[in-house]
Amino acid sequence: MEEPVSWPKAITLREVGPRDGIQSEQLHVDTGDKIGFIDALSVTGIRRIEAVSFVSPKALPQMADAAEVLAGISRTPGVIYSALVPNRRGADAAVEARADALQVFMAVTDSYNLKNVNKNVKESLRDVADVVAVGRAASVPVEGTLSSAFGDPNEGDVVPERVVEVSRWMMDEGIDSISYGDTTGMATPRRVRDLIAAVREALPGLRLNMHFHDTRGTGLANVLIALECGIDYFDGSVGGMGGSPFASGATGNVVTEDLVHMVEDMGIDTGVDLDALLAAARIAQSLVSGDLPSHVLRAGPRDRVDSAGGTA
Ligand code: MG
Repeated sequence: MEEPVSWPKAITLREVGPRDGIQSEQLHVDTGDKIGFIDALSVTGIRRIEAVSFVSPKALPQMADAAEVLAGISRTPGVIYSALVPNRRGADAAVEARADALQVFMAVTDSYNLKNVNKNVKESLRDVADVVAVGRAASVPVEGTLSSAFGDPNEGDVVPERVVEVSRWMMDEGIDSISYGDTTGMATPRRVRDLIAAVREALPGLRLNMHFHDTRGTGLANVLIALECGIDYFDGSVGGMGGSPFASGATGNVVTEDLVHMVEDMGIDTGVDLDALLAAARIAQSLVSGDLPSHVLRAGPRDRVDSAGGTA
């Protein structure tokens, strides 16, 4: 039978658990435990790890030890350890701490951006320009992250035209890769398809990353339709750790091991060793108090149902 749709042959994954997960869970995790967690992820085959953020330690004390974490990890050759930064100060600190890549973040909507960094979108664009300048001077690549790309509890749905507009503004400041975050868990497959189509048509030179949440159970469905649209770059959080501290109930980044488990069975290469990833997921589980939402951690991989002790 012919395949009804074509999927990418391989995808790039970025693991966000050490930053997005730990930051959003508002956990206190010891520096040594963070380092151990990142080191466990480093041997899974994942090539990109969002390791830390350089933000105000007053606002986010969980990331106050970002420089120590980057200094303490065992860097696996070929793995890119990135740092999320909101502005020049964060970018300078990240470069100083030898981050391999910077991710400058802002929201698509003014209300979410004001809540997150106390600036409107236009004001944050000046910070994007600053971060790009710091990255260029240090030869460190800079990617963009756009949160609330599918909606904002205060402003409702975000139309793709708005996402295109803000993406274009970021590109005008020198960004050529943007991660679209479903921070608020409002994406559904049709909205994913519509956003990708709009961005692709208006901004063909842009590299797209999709950062989905599973807040309302659409996480992997959104991944699937994005794959069908040809997207080959996704974020995931091992164990499903994290979410957003400012979007009520919007916990649950897409689970990296669930994503890997699904797409590898579709013949899509992730380069990731599932057993090593599950070992990292168990470490993530040990860092949080409640049960993480990972399906594959709980049930075991589909081809090993017996060892998982599953029942009919
Ligand atoms: Mg997230």
